Amino acid sequence: STPEPAARPGLLGRLFGREEVEVPRRALDDAMLEEIEDLLVASDMGVGTAQRVTANLAEGRMGRRLSVPEIKGVLAGEVARIMDGVARPMPLYPKRPQVVLVVGVNGSGKTTTIGKLASQFRAAGKTVVIAAGDTFRAAAVEQLQVWGQRAGVPVLTAAQGSDPASLAYDAMEKAGRDGADLLLIDTAGRLQNRQDLMEELAKIVRVIRKKDPSAPHNTLLVLDATTGQNALSQVEIFQKIADVTGLVMTKLDGTAKGGVLVALADRFGLPIHAIGVGEQIDDLAPFDPEEFARALTG
Ligand code: GDP
Repeated sequence: STPEPAARPGLLGRLFGREEVEVPRRALDDAMLEEIEDLLVASDMGVGTAQRVTANLAEGRMGRRLSVPEIKGVLAGEVARIMDGVARPMPLYPKRPQVVLVVGVNGSGKTTTIGKLASQFRAAGKTVVIAAGDTFRAAAVEQLQVWGQRAGVPVLTAAQGSDPASLAYDAMEKAGRDGADLLLIDTAGRLQNRQDLMEELAKIVRVIRKKDPSAPHNTLLVLDATTGQNALSQVEIFQKIADVTGLVMTKLDGTAKGGVLVALADRFGLPIHAIGVGEQIDDLAPFDPEEFARALTG
């Protein structure tokens, strides 16, 4: 029987195929470095980062006959080193309720991530409340209610088209009265109407701060890892509007192009709190730099 093909071929897997078991040796030269650099760029790592990683591979190894596993090992080590500093779970504070503001463009996986987070916190014994802050999209509110049901967490909603900032305020009050540990606030992500989006988000933050100057305690930006370099500009946009404290990278189950995480880490240094690895409620995992580096380069 033929072996199952890897679900997600790593970068070097595509360059070297299955040679690694045979240990064929090839001297490291400029042509090979260039091929490797191209692959890293194709993974959305960004040219600058890819050059640095390849330069570190070249250091003291030119003309040497390295095996494929050795090359992969070096590259994975380089990637893991860059990612080590950003792999951090979302910090929790003693404050009640802790306010987690969730931002990101529509389709990035905000709703799904909120559902997964709610479920994880519930499993950890926390009481959670969700506020459906995208009051404009009825479908978004419905989706969130479905996720709330799955996670066993109440979802606070407001009339369609009503002010999301006042929903946020009311939700903080209700969560406070109920003694909830965490309040997860969804927000709209209509990037095509950037001015409105900015004003709406800025107002939500203002109102949250008025209620509790220490809130929002976390502002999570949800990014779709398959959008590649787009993720970089989304960070810039949302950082201007809200004080983004951490990232959740979604859809890492379906892509060999996760290199954008390296570019993000290199450029912004924002912590990656979790990764989405599927559409189900348990498909949210802590970010593991070593595992990520191996999957990317493998
Ligand atoms: P929102 O518009 O930002 O709220 O995005 P949604 O949460 O509705 O997600 C958009 C689509 O992406 C849905 O079809 C989700 O099932 C899917 N999705 C979200 N997170 C993941 C993930 O980690 N992996 C995969 N494969 N799909 C995801």
